[in-house]
Formats: sequence, structure tokens, C-alpha cells
Amino acid sequence: MSEKIKCLIIGSGPAGYTAAIYAARANMSPVVYEGLQPGGQLTITTEIDNFPGYPDGVAGPIMMEQFKKQAQRFGTDVRFGYITKVDFSKRPFKVVADNVHEIEAEVVIIATGATANYLGLESEEKFKGLGVSACATCDGFFYRNRDVAVVGGGDTAAEEASYLAGICNKVYLVVRRDVLRASKAMQDRVLANPKIEVLWNHNTVEILGDSAGVTGVKLLNNKTNEEKVIDIHGFFVAIGHTPVSGLFKEYLETDEAGYIKTIKGSTKTNVPGVFACGDVQDSMYRQAVTAAGSGCMAAKDAERFLSEV
Ligand code: NDP
Repeated sequence: MSEKIKCLIIGSGPAGYTAAIYAARANMSPVVYEGLQPGGQLTITTEIDNFPGYPDGVAGPIMMEQFKKQAQRFGTDVRFGYITKVDFSKRPFKVVADNVHEIEAEVVIIATGATANYLGLESEEKFKGLGVSACATCDGFFYRNRDVAVVGGGDTAAEEASYLAGICNKVYLVVRRDVLRASKAMQDRVLANPKIEVLWNHNTVEILGDSAGVTGVKLLNNKTNEEKVIDIHGFFVAIGHTPVSGLFKEYLETDEAGYIKTIKGSTKTNVPGVFACGDVQDSMYRQAVTAAGSGCMAAKDAERFLSEV
């Protein structure tokens, strides 16, 4: 026998928990499945200084614990587990949690987020949180007046390099080809910034460091085969994100990068009754506060949907 619920929320970052707060207050009795990374991407960042309402900043894991508590205060059922199968072919939607538990949900809010891509080096893994980061807006401030490197050649890398140039002493932009993929405007901005040095045709070989964190990075020029070490304290990976949308692909329209498509100005997907919020549908802003905002929209959209069917 399937468990019957009104509102299922998949994912527990700022989008999922904000959707839960609004859905719970609207008597939709939401059930949140936390997913493989309870609390989402913010649990792997250190200090968050750009979420309004925290004048002294807040640690990512603490903020997410507070989101969770707030959702629970209004009766959200938060479950440790993840959704392994969905059937959105008709309502109520059938989903399976943890491979065994069958659920029928009247509405589903997807807030599964995105994961930053990493290079896949052992040394990168070792220094995550100790100088290796995938978010300049989150962690750039720790490298004020120091030298840092950004790897990548897209808009994110260009934006992060420009942002870091406003804080740091020097920014190396490590690009694997001899061109940037970033838009022309972003390229111009990067190339005109005297604090940014672009290292064309370079691959990252190893991130170097000690017990206090990153001290440098070993690079290989893939044209000349020369290796060199640059001294840096922060290493920012900006080689794209992967939205966590694979489970829904059979039913939901996505763009070519896998971001779930939503109807402009709403969180509605192509399946009525299924809504998407946060980074899984946003390749552009990807901020905690914008994710939270879209979580609120998803709950409101779901509430309106239920009142109309
Ligand atoms: P992109 O996929 O556009 O770019 C990824 C970059 O990382 C590419 O330059 C790629 O190199 C490089 N890369 C990938 N793998 C590796 C690797 N293993 N080693 C070294 N370099 C690697 O991702 P973005 O996150 O930059 O952008 C995603 C989307 O978001 C884009 O559509 C972008 O336009 C948009 N965006 C827009 C912004 C804005 O308009 N303000 C801001 C940020 C993002 P290569 O070029 O050689 O493939």
C-alpha cells in the first residue's frame, strides 16, 4: 500500500526548505526527502556573508539547520532518505523512496539543486574547504589581498575571476584552451582587468599545500609541455555545474545542460502539478537567496494548483 501525501518536496537546500515553510503554513502537510546531501550545497561552504538577515555572517551548515528547524516548526515531515523512482505520467504522482517505500503525491516540488563540477584530482579533494572552493561569492573574502587562481573559461569562471579581482591581490585564470568560452562582454572585462593574468593552454596537475591549506598549484602548458608552479592560497574551480535532474528526464523538459525548464515567471514544469525551484532550474543566479525565493514561488504555485483542480 502506498503512502498518500499531499505535497512531496524533493531536496533540502534553501529552495526545498523555503518551499516547505510556505507549504506547511498553507496546510499542505509537506514531506521533505532530504536527498544524498542533506542541507544541500551550502553545507559544504564555510561562512555565508551574503544571505540577508545575518549581519555577522553564518556558517553554511548552521544556516541549513535553521532552515530545517523553521520548516519543522510548522509541521513539515523531514525524512532522511532519497527518491529513487518517479512516475509523473498521471496524478497522483507515484514515487518510490529509498527503493522500497511507495508514495502517492498530489503535487511534487523538485528542489534537488546542482552539483559543482570538479577536476577530479586527488589533491583537489584533499584541500576542499582548505583553499579549494567552487564558489567565489561564498569563499572569496577569505583570500582578501592574497593571490588566487580560478580554473575554467566560461561565464562563471570569468565572473568569479572579476569578482575575486575586487578582493584579492592577484587572480590567475587557468584556461585549458587558447580561447575563452565566456561571452564577449565577460571576456573583455577579464582581459581588461590588470589584476587578472590569463594562463592560456594550461592544465592543472596538482594542488599543493600543507596542513594550513593551499600554498600553490602545479600547472602544465599543454602546448609546450612545460610545468610550472604558481604560489596561491585559494583555488577556485569554475568548470560548470551539473543539475540533479536525471531522475525526472523521462517526464520533464530540460535544456541541453539538464536544467529543468519552467514556465517564465513561475515554477511550473511541463507536467501540471510538478514544480521546480532552486538550482535545478536556474543556471544563471545560483544563490541561496534566489533559490529560497523560488522555493516560496513553488509552494505558492502548488497551493494555487491544488485549489484549482
Ligand atoms: P560552461 O559549461 O559554460 O563553461 C565551463 C568552462 O570550464 C569551459 O570554459 C570549459 O572549457 C571549462 N572546463 C570544463 N571542464 C574542464 C576541465 N576538466 N579542466 C579545465 N577546464 C574545464 O559553464 P559555466 O558555469 O561557466 O556557465 C554555465 C551557464 O551559465 C552558461 O550558459 C553561462 O553562459 C551561464 N552563466 C551566465 C552568467 C552571466 O551571464 N552573468 C554567469 C555565469 C554563468 P572549454 O571551453 O575548453 O570547454
